[in-house]
Amino acid sequence: MSQLKILQKTETLHEARWWEPEANGRVHCYLCPRHCHINPGQAGFCFIRINEGGKLYSLGYGAPAALQIDPIEKKPLNHFLPGTRVFSMGTAGCNMGCFFCQNWDISKSRHDQVHSQHVPAEDVPLLALQHGCDSLAFTYNEPTIWGEYVIDICRAAKEYGVKRVMVSNGYITREAFHDIYDDIDAANIDLKAFTENFYGKITLTHLQRVLETLQWLKNETNVWFEITNLMIPTLNDDPAETHKLSEWILTHLGPDVPLHFTAFHPDFKLRDKPRTPPETLHRARQIAQEAGLHYVYEGNIYSDGAHTKCPSCDSLLVRRSWHDVTENRIKHGRCPQCSTAIPGVWEKDARNAPRSAIAASEKYSHLNL
Ligand code: SF4
Repeated sequence: MSQLKILQKTETLHEARWWEPEANGRVHCYLCPRHCHINPGQAGFCFIRINEGGKLYSLGYGAPAALQIDPIEKKPLNHFLPGTRVFSMGTAGCNMGCFFCQNWDISKSRHDQVHSQHVPAEDVPLLALQHGCDSLAFTYNEPTIWGEYVIDICRAAKEYGVKRVMVSNGYITREAFHDIYDDIDAANIDLKAFTENFYGKITLTHLQRVLETLQWLKNETNVWFEITNLMIPTLNDDPAETHKLSEWILTHLGPDVPLHFTAFHPDFKLRDKPRTPPETLHRARQIAQEAGLHYVYEGNIYSDGAHTKCPSCDSLLVRRSWHDVTENRIKHGRCPQCSTAIPGVWEKDARNAPRSAIAASEKYSHLNL
């Protein structure tokens, strides 16, 4: 991942939420299902939540380590403002231990091993608007672990009509879920496999907690969300597993939640596995479609499986090449051929109108992003 600019860090300590004191100066963090019990002077599993003097602090607050402008299709989101740019940011650390992490340079780093700069939450939407972005995304590492910063950025972004996107592993507790997701517009949740065995051995977490998050999103929020399944040869690409995963989505979330099967490349601790063959993604897509899912995509390869088609008349609706939208025929959220409503967020928020005035802000012009 290339960064727009390497920024200088300003150390600040921001008191965390979602913790309680324990005996002997320990603290219990209940932001994610790891439930770390952290001794004074130490950090939780995710590296960026530390116990200083019996209080929990977030080192990720106001300290992005990666700032970049991406196509929204890279998140991936195919039914959310297609063809637009998203101001994307991430910090150090992660609450999962995935051997295959594709952003391990920041997610497996402590806060003092990355380059970052202090960027106040209220300034993030200004940066997004200055760079012509309709939305901003919390991504690259796991944004749940810097949830305090996410919440404050969302509050500011709402004022300007900038949409908010979470790209998450879905590993979050009930206590924190609504605090973070109630101001989110769209999310992509990684469903990394469909066995507890994979989650336990390869990510050091649990599948069930991710499935719960997906159901909370569906049943308790208005967040538009899509799901990504990164297919790793021999570890999670068994057709029977893909069938179970697809059936679960159909039964618990319905046929209209887009599902992305994406190709793995060898990285981090998983360099002994080959790249995912395109045939694996084609087969997975066919299984999911036959199970009854309406919008199933292939990612990280060039494929016709990247296009959106109408589930009623099979007309081509959105043509894509990798992360580029080359044609978008959707009209007012409907198929132009048969008028079937296509679920998603297809049109920009009118509140973006005052952009030109805001973009005139000179505040961050010195950063030259
Ligand atoms: S957010 Fe970090 S410190 Fe808190 S429970 Fe999860 S891994 Fe542990």
